[in-house]
Amino acid sequence: MLKAKRVVLHSRPGKNGHPVPEDFRVEETVKPSELKEGEVLVRTLYLSVDPYMRCRMNDDTGADYLLPWRLEEPVDGGGVGIVEASKNKALSFGSIVTSFNWRWQSYDVMNGSLLHKVNPEMVNGHLSYFLGAVGMPGLTALLGVREKGHATPGTNQTMVVSGAAGACGSIAGQIGRLDGCERVVGICGSDQKCQTLVTELGFTSAINYKKGDISSALKEHCPKGIDIYFDNVGGPISDAVISQMNTDGHVILCGQISQYNKDVPYPPPLSEDTQDSLRFKNITRERFVVLNYMEKHKEGLLQLSHWVKTGQIKVLETVVNGIENMGDAFCSMMTGGNVGKQIVKISD
Ligand code: NDP
Repeated sequence: MLKAKRVVLHSRPGKNGHPVPEDFRVEETVKPSELKEGEVLVRTLYLSVDPYMRCRMNDDTGADYLLPWRLEEPVDGGGVGIVEASKNKALSFGSIVTSFNWRWQSYDVMNGSLLHKVNPEMVNGHLSYFLGAVGMPGLTALLGVREKGHATPGTNQTMVVSGAAGACGSIAGQIGRLDGCERVVGICGSDQKCQTLVTELGFTSAINYKKGDISSALKEHCPKGIDIYFDNVGGPISDAVISQMNTDGHVILCGQISQYNKDVPYPPPLSEDTQDSLRFKNITRERFVVLNYMEKHKEGLLQLSHWVKTGQIKVLETVVNGIENMGDAFCSMMTGGNVGKQIVKISD
């Protein structure tokens, strides 16, 4: 009997706890072989770890569109794989497929109708990009900027991006530049990341929020104030940014990762001062959820693919090898161990 591996949720960190790799357990399982009509056998190539998974570790996710992971059952999320056997007419041996609900298993049997067949040419054969720049994080950046950012070329806007060296932020800043912002300033957690944003991704400048006073750094880097803020982190960083925003500015409320290990609702409550800034300066701050724009995903992926293939958008990834390292990769991403999209490579 051939063996496969899978990852189950072993323990919950608690709403106020920090996740640890030991919350996940790797198990041996049997490689499935029997297929029913409509099913395919897939071998997993790449798996994604994403911040939204933190709330799936709680017994109540706090979001109606996300179910909690169950204890001692396989964890799931974004994945890419290759079809190795098929009883589904739309998918043949060798098809490359993706899903948002891919179980963390080295092999799996799935209903073919729940998989999306993708064309490797869209990513020049770099299949992990379907989990990043030409996948959900890329769409989040693109649709977040386009739906909520109101970038207007020729008006000398300044855009600030927090979580700027991550999967969504690194793409969002580049789209801000392509959409005509005069200055794009990134905020992230190390000098090395700041340097990468400027030298490799074309950000105007970058601020390491772990060093020095963020308010004075923002004044220096954004001398004309801030018009658009792509917010991935929330908390004190966002309070500092919003306090320096211009009248009629726009906050793209993408995520609030600094608050994900706390028992607070989403979006977390704002301080009185920040609420006053928003109100008195007529700044919009509408919640943005990429899944609410399904009808724009196909066109969005084509746009992202074009930018990536033509080199107008540069893609950064941090790749870890082996299904045994899923828990480590998740916890590392949650604490800034990644530059660009955190990927786990499961097989060749
Ligand atoms: P990233 O690749 O950006 O990884 C997370 C990053 O967050 C880390 O690398 C770390 O970078 C940063 N971070 C962690 N803790 C803190 C903290 N306390 N303060 C500041 N930064 C912190 O993840 P994604 O790009 O996948 O996701 C980014 C955000 O976008 C998340 O908030 C996520 O929930 C949200 N999101 C929202 C979607 C939507 O539809 N609205 C869809 C997808 C993602 P550093 O070194 O800079 O600290």
